[in-house]
Amino acid sequence: MRETKMGTRAIWAGEKDQLAFGATQVPVVHSVSFGYDDMDEWYDVAIGKKKGHIYGRNTNPTVEAFEEKIRILEGAEAATSFSTGMAAISNTLGTLLFPGDRVVSIKDTYGGTNKIFTEFLPKQKIDVTLCDTGDHEEIEKEIAKGCKVLYLETPTNPTVKITDIARMARAGKEAGAIVIVDNTFATPINQNPLALGADLVIHSATKFLGGHADALGGSVCGSKELVESIYHYREINGATLDPMSAYLLLRGMKTLKLRVDRQSENAMAVARYLQTVDVVESVFYPGLEDHPGHEIAKEQMNDFGGMLSFAVKGGVDTLRHLLPKLKYANRAANLGSVETIVGPSRTTSHVECTPEERAAMGIPEGLIRYSAGIEDIEDLIYDLEQAFQTLPESLFVNS
Ligand SMILES: *Cc1c(COP(=O)(O)O)cnc(C)c1O
Repeated sequence: MRETKMGTRAIWAGEKDQLAFGATQVPVVHSVSFGYDDMDEWYDVAIGKKKGHIYGRNTNPTVEAFEEKIRILEGAEAATSFSTGMAAISNTLGTLLFPGDRVVSIKDTYGGTNKIFTEFLPKQKIDVTLCDTGDHEEIEKEIAKGCKVLYLETPTNPTVKITDIARMARAGKEAGAIVIVDNTFATPINQNPLALGADLVIHSATKFLGGHADALGGSVCGSKELVESIYHYREINGATLDPMSAYLLLRGMKTLKLRVDRQSENAMAVARYLQTVDVVESVFYPGLEDHPGHEIAKEQMNDFGGMLSFAVKGGVDTLRHLLPKLKYANRAANLGSVETIVGPSRTTSHVECTPEERAAMGIPEGLIRYSAGIEDIEDLIYDLEQAFQTLPESLFVNS
């Protein structure tokens, strides 16, 4: 059978089974419980013999449509959902890891994920090894020592580093590890970790999937067996996606392909423009030929995505002048929305670190994360130009 393309899937996938009364849109089913007059039918649904719903913490029709859409976009056997991206990550790790187990990951994972690795898992006597993100040999060496879970995220926050998923998944498989990839930055439009050998793919649906910065959510896709055990952990522990958010995410996802294509295009143009600006010290974007992960990104991604970052001369003082001048950018701790969003790493993703720690992680104090929106590129570049022009000369006398 001919496979549908991603743009078509984003629109149609997952919806049909939930439609009723001739409605063309999935309803928001707010009912917490689902009642049955027939005791036998109720029993069959409760034990999973018959399709249906019992209680909103377990399953819900609107939520099921969201799960089905992301399942099809990621090309997975099964999918489940969560109240937030962090719930997806913590519930997955909670399902898979026990005292005495070992996790191998990278230093540049999302801030919340890093806290799980450095603060919470050690308390449960789970051994965590965090490798240098770009160092494939080091990661392979650590994997070969044995681990239960290999946890990756690519591209990373905020310097958009790239890890070779196929190569790491091969090493993980050899060591008998479950390979997890946080695919939030790339989205299924630009990268399909399962096709590259990963076992589970996680999303913060809050970001690009929803795409409008108006709903929190998370998802996990993978084999039926793994996803069912993670679903079971979630249905008991209770980090359930609520139906209204599921609806907003579903609606957002219909335009995922359009948005991500445009965001990738805009990010590339902004990155190229920033390279020509004197005040800009460095630009990090995997689409640029001089980015250390460029060749791998070209291989494993369809496009380079909507996220980039850049460092300005004069550090924080320059940011203080520059950021308020932007007319078409929200200054906020979020990403992946239709609006362009900017945020300094020192106040967003890496606020808990000292300046020295940030420096050790290769994050200059003047680093700005730039999440390209879907605005017209001429306006985004004009906006940056006019903001750079307002910077007082005095900022750079010493730099
Ligand atoms: C935002 C984010 C998360 C966490 O998602 P929430 O929905 O905010 O809990 C996880 N991973 C990445 C890469 C993110 O950007």
